[in-house]
Amino acid sequence: MTDSCIFCKIVLNEAKAAIVYHDEQVTAFRDSHPVAPTHLLIVPNKHIESVAALEMEDEQLMGHLFTVARKLAEEEEIAKGGYRLITNSGPNGGQTVFHLHLHLIGGQRMRYPMG
Ligand code: AMP
Repeated sequence: MTDSCIFCKIVLNEAKAAIVYHDEQVTAFRDSHPVAPTHLLIVPNKHIESVAALEMEDEQLMGHLFTVARKLAEEEEIAKGGYRLITNSGPNGGQTVFHLHLHLIGGQRMRYPMG
């Protein structure tokens, strides 16, 4: 937990978000500025700045993040049509919130790259 991190605050229920999933390792909520009909953010509860800050001990946690993404895609009914998972790392990657997160985006046909 870092005091200034908005995603840490959402994980701890200290900031408002439309949470769709929470367990002891990860939390998922709706992006406040969705770019597609479904746009969720899946974050580790533990503060990790980005992929660039990952340690070997985080491997199980990252696997869990993807498994939760797969389950949420099914719940959101976008699994059949397909979807996109993105994690931005650092300024050149387009990262704006420095708490690692997976964007789960779907519900429309995506072009590549976006933006
Ligand atoms: P990134 O640019 O990859 O770091 O993505 C950050 C994402 O977080 C953006 O899509 C923002 O719209 C989203 N975001 C920022 N603050 C919040 C918030 N308080 N609740 C929900 N989504 C947020």
